[in-house]
Amino acid sequence: MEKLIFEKSAEGRVGYTLPQIEVPRVSGNLSEQKQRKTPPRLPQVSEIEVARHFQRLSHLNFNIETGMYPLGSCTMKYNPKVNEKVANLTGFTGLHPLLSEEHTQGALKLMYELGECLKEITGLSGVSLQPVAGSQGELTGIYLFKAYHASRGDQRRDTILIPDSAHGTNPSSAAIAGMKIQSVNSNEHGKIDLADLKSKLGDHIAGFMVTNPSTVGIFESEIIEVQKTVSESGGLMYMDGANLNALLSIVRPGEMRFDCMHINLHKTFSTPHGGGGPGAGPICVSERLIPFLPTPSVEKDGDDYRLEYNNPDSIGRVHAFFGNFGVLVRAYTYIRMLGAKGLKAVSENAVINANYLLARLKDDFDVPFAGHCMHEFILSGNRQKNIGVSTRDMAKRLLDYGFHAPTVYFPLVVPEAILIEPTGTENKQNLDGFADAMIAIARETENTPEIVINAPESTPIKRLDEAGANRNLNIRYDFA
Ligand SMILES: *Cc1c(COP(=O)(O)O)cnc(C)c1O
Repeated sequence: MEKLIFEKSAEGRVGYTLPQIEVPRVSGNLSEQKQRKTPPRLPQVSEIEVARHFQRLSHLNFNIETGMYPLGSCTMKYNPKVNEKVANLTGFTGLHPLLSEEHTQGALKLMYELGECLKEITGLSGVSLQPVAGSQGELTGIYLFKAYHASRGDQRRDTILIPDSAHGTNPSSAAIAGMKIQSVNSNEHGKIDLADLKSKLGDHIAGFMVTNPSTVGIFESEIIEVQKTVSESGGLMYMDGANLNALLSIVRPGEMRFDCMHINLHKTFSTPHGGGGPGAGPICVSERLIPFLPTPSVEKDGDDYRLEYNNPDSIGRVHAFFGNFGVLVRAYTYIRMLGAKGLKAVSENAVINANYLLARLKDDFDVPFAGHCMHEFILSGNRQKNIGVSTRDMAKRLLDYGFHAPTVYFPLVVPEAILIEPTGTENKQNLDGFADAMIAIARETENTPEIVINAPESTPIKRLDEAGANRNLNIRYDFA
């Protein structure tokens, strides 16, 4: 193993040069207690060692510029470099959030126009760019539902219905917002079981949270009927639109009569993400929820843009300042570069790529739900599990073939789930490369299972305790 940067440290080596101080050094009023007595224990290394250190680290991780990253639900598509170029313009990066409206007209205009684009794309009437993650968009949406029902004196509605295939953030967000959760079953086609839904509706239901296409990659074709049923019982409809990759310029959630949805800009509208952020989870809402949207909102008066704080029914702020502004710039750039036609092509490519891969893999893995898929599809590793090789083993083995693993063990409704989202940015050669690798691994599970069970063999670190790494995070170098 390569030495760590701290171990390369040698007294007196420096990797920087600072200009002469041109102002008098101020010792200031810092109390004795707050003054540092010993210098910080930072590694003393030269510039080239620092450069090599970070270059080396960058190669230890798999990323979208290493190879295909078919992580279902998460959309690890290629993010065009032009987004970075625009987000890094000094006019954006040098902005201070406390600058006056007069000095931030460009940024306000960008936020206003991005909001207009999102309204157009979703077919909904109101927008807030404030939430900084899909999950925070969900939380905000549930607060809006509560505010709406409360405004009508309808205080009994304390329960949110959620399909059993939902992303884990859905029940968590609803619970954090103080709601009870009731699960709605999926039927044998992987869709919402209407009879089960109907049996659970009543005047205690605040709303129904639906992902469409669902997390198994299937379009909820009965969504209008679902909406009608929920609406008749007085509930609102929430759409988890974290991943909109199948719908752009094809179907608008407003036309499916949703009242609120969030959109993960970092997934559908291309910001590099993972490892916890940064992201953006704007919400779009129907007419009746507009009064409750977070404050401030960005408004346009003639040619001027301003922030409106006077929204008396607003649920208030959900984030400091304007969220992760850089992500908004990237999303805006992406949308404006592509236009409506380009966005449609994004979805068409995402859907055809997923269907192509499904067709190539359907004989070698179990396919829980028959028929075409949307932008992603689900397989089960049950067949392989029965001969002693788990889905986790196969996911690890993929790294040896140069591919990141798909999402595994999610959604929970499919045993040994493998959720594959190839994204629209891979060409046929790459898709074939991935399919060949999956099929080769399926053969290995039959002929040389020990190779798969012991995978990966090619990575610097073999199998991690992922849960432990998260729960007992320790990134401090221990000085002996
Ligand atoms: C990613 C995702 C979320 C959560 O989004 P975050 O930005 O990670 O909070 C919610 N629902 C679905 C379907 C997702 O794929």
